[in-house]
Amino acid sequence: MKTKKKTERIGIVSLGCAKNLVDTEVLMRQLDENSFQLITDPSGAETLDAAVINTCGFILDAKNESIDTILDFVKMKKEGRLKKLFVIGCLSERYKNELANEIPEVDGFFGVNELPVILQSLGSQYRKELLGERHLTTPGHYAYLKIAEGCDRKCSFCSIPSIRGSHVSRPMEDILHEAEFLAKKGVREINVISQDTTFYGQDLYQKRLLPELLQNLSCIKGIEWIRLHYTYPDGFSPELMKVMRENDKICKYVDIPLQHISARILKSMKRGVGSRKTWNLIASIRKNIPGVAIRSALITGYPGETHQEHLELCDFVRKARFDRLGVFTYSHEEGTTAYQLKDSVSGSLKKKRASELMDIQQEISLELNQKKIGEKQKVIIDRKENEFYIGRTQYDSPEIDDEVLIRTAKTLSIGSFYDVKITAAENFDLYGEIH
Ligand code: SF4
Repeated sequence: MKTKKKTERIGIVSLGCAKNLVDTEVLMRQLDENSFQLITDPSGAETLDAAVINTCGFILDAKNESIDTILDFVKMKKEGRLKKLFVIGCLSERYKNELANEIPEVDGFFGVNELPVILQSLGSQYRKELLGERHLTTPGHYAYLKIAEGCDRKCSFCSIPSIRGSHVSRPMEDILHEAEFLAKKGVREINVISQDTTFYGQDLYQKRLLPELLQNLSCIKGIEWIRLHYTYPDGFSPELMKVMRENDKICKYVDIPLQHISARILKSMKRGVGSRKTWNLIASIRKNIPGVAIRSALITGYPGETHQEHLELCDFVRKARFDRLGVFTYSHEEGTTAYQLKDSVSGSLKKKRASELMDIQQEISLELNQKKIGEKQKVIIDRKENEFYIGRTQYDSPEIDDEVLIRTAKTLSIGSFYDVKITAAENFDLYGEIH
């Protein structure tokens, strides 16, 4: 039962990854039901009763962005425009005590699993009956669906297990209930996320159940596209490839961070997968899921990375010909096992190596895109920008991948699918016309 309309205005900021965004949306749904006025662009607000910043804290750049944002709101508070300031999420989970000492103006620092306590501090109560409900902040036709929390892996460079804890799969019925809620709200595209998506079910059901989960998600009325993110190299089963190959609703898209290709570095990274297995897996995914687009992520400048190992990584990018690629510079994170190693590659050299890798990828992306000219593609329309409708194919995840720009006299509806003939290509975008 919705309580009487409060006038309290709460500013919400969500930093970091899509997993954090889902947590923010869950919090916003609870605040909705407690009848707070939610301000999703609080930095421009004249006054606020409270602000909640959901922070990111796994690498240096993300930590700096979170701290800068907190300090912006501390300034707002000092100017008398903000009454209460709360900080939640990964940075807060990781550095709660240090932050509380250094930024005493913040009224409360909360971790990643403290929703009821956060709501209490905001003068409201956690409502169990809202489990699986969210206040969507993405455009209404797509949403992220978090299927698990935490990670059991021991990747040497990664602080996430120390922040988010060990892998906890959500019960399948809860995930399906949430997906049905999203479908009823008009969501057509589900982006499946977690830290280690291919591990889904192992802890809860002693069996990896991602193929079954995808099959069940595809039976939900209204859901047209289901896309997989954050898969782990050693979890890619033939059953998973079969479901991806045979089920039309599952996008022929695999997001699989591989991090490096040098055998020495993969071993030091404790990835549990060597370079030969990496190559075999890429070949197997492409053989078993015809036409699949592979997105990967690589780390450059890992401790001790030699020039030769960097060249090996360049050669890997040249030959693997990923459809989509993200390159990150190594961040020396205390609490990780790699922190004991010397952070030997300078910041400027890390950046230089990262841009060399992306230069190679840019050429590959253009070649792959040019091959699509003349093809007919199913495109979901995300928005209109000047004279173009902007959309994506099943091979493109929101906000991180390529887009299709469509110029047409017709009025297209946002969130709908259209058949589009590709007419031109650029490094990371396609142009098309309604077919
Ligand atoms: S799989 Fe590795 S990199 Fe990914 S969250 Fe887990 S420990 Fe971190």
